Amino acid sequence: MASGSSGPNWPPIEGIISDLDGVVYRGNAAIVDAIQVFGAWQAAGLPFCFVTNNSTHTPQDVVRKLEGFGLSVAPKDVVTSAITAAELIRAKYPDLMRVFVIGAPSLVKAMADVGLEVTDRKPQAVVMGLDRQITHEKLRIAVEAILNGAAFIGTNPDLLLPTASGYEPGAGATITAVAAATQVKPVIVGKPEPHMIETALARLGTARGSTLLIGDQIQTDIQAGKRACLPTVLVTTGVPPREDPLLVPPDFIVSSLEEIGVRPAPVGSSRQRRA
Ligand SMILES: [Mg+2]
Repeated sequence: MASGSSGPNWPPIEGIISDLDGVVYRGNAAIVDAIQVFGAWQAAGLPFCFVTNNSTHTPQDVVRKLEGFGLSVAPKDVVTSAITAAELIRAKYPDLMRVFVIGAPSLVKAMADVGLEVTDRKPQAVVMGLDRQITHEKLRIAVEAILNGAAFIGTNPDLLLPTASGYEPGAGATITAVAAATQVKPVIVGKPEPHMIETALARLGTARGSTLLIGDQIQTDIQAGKRACLPTVLVTTGVPPREDPLLVPPDFIVSSLEEIGVRPAPVGSSRQRRA
């Protein structure tokens, strides 16, 4: 595949928004060239922000993991579906106080961090993410609250997650179960919805047209990027991209982040680059 100036016609790039799993690491193994490229971008002063549908890790958890691979970033450089769910509740339902959470401790923490009371008593919203300790009782509380008028928010729509030995059901599978029981459609936070991309863009303060979205999945990453009107790059990790005529294709396809031709955007092209 071509690279750099002899390759595709890359737009001027002043910021990067990137997926993590399948782009920067695969499970617990670093994708070495990707780590090196992010390190080079950091050294060159190119700002980036990671976005992950995974609600079971805090930004601090991700920072520690990347640190172990030799890439040093700050918690503000990581946007999770849990953090975005909390921000979305605060923005969309400013008077809401009590939420019931089905999810990991990181999702409970994200809610508490924006001042929400996490409770099973008269919750005004139900927030669902991946919960490996899910029980019928939790599902009952969620269903009852939603039928009583609580807002219904899901962190991410992923139905199936790869594991070391096969697959496990993702958050989307249990969110779908509650949606089926209540006949209420949830607000979904994660990719392919654009909410996390908007959160990351606001943190970077870069212009949409010159902020590159990098992901390894057309169904989630690329669709979210296109909905937010960003140029998009699909990085293939050995698995050929699945063709689907209903999905918007990526603007660029690379087999390694090293192929991305970064040239700086003209000075002053960004409306409000953060200091
Ligand atoms: Mg991925």
